[in-house]
Amino acid sequence: MPRKKNRARERAPHPGGPKVMGAEAPEWAERPGFEVRTSFGSTKAYRCPGCDHEVREGVQHLVILPREAIDERRHWHTECWRIELRRLGI
Ligand SMILES: [Zn+2]
Repeated sequence: MPRKKNRARERAPHPGGPKVMGAEAPEWAERPGFEVRTSFGSTKAYRCPGCDHEVREGVQHLVILPREAIDERRHWHTECWRIELRRLGI
């Protein structure tokens, strides 16, 4: 039986570096030029740029970080990000 190569996915920009909050985002949520993380809930509410409604505390959502401006992170409802990607045709 051939052994599968255990190839680590090379998506983490800072292996062993400072931790970006949350976990890796699902593959469908990736967008070129952006770091996408899953947040399992924040301690404060954010405004989702997709629907202009609150992402409530403790609600799982996505955090989108432009690679060019990593401080400009945005908190999106998972579904709003899905719609956004569809709208952009990605
Ligand atoms: Zn939203």
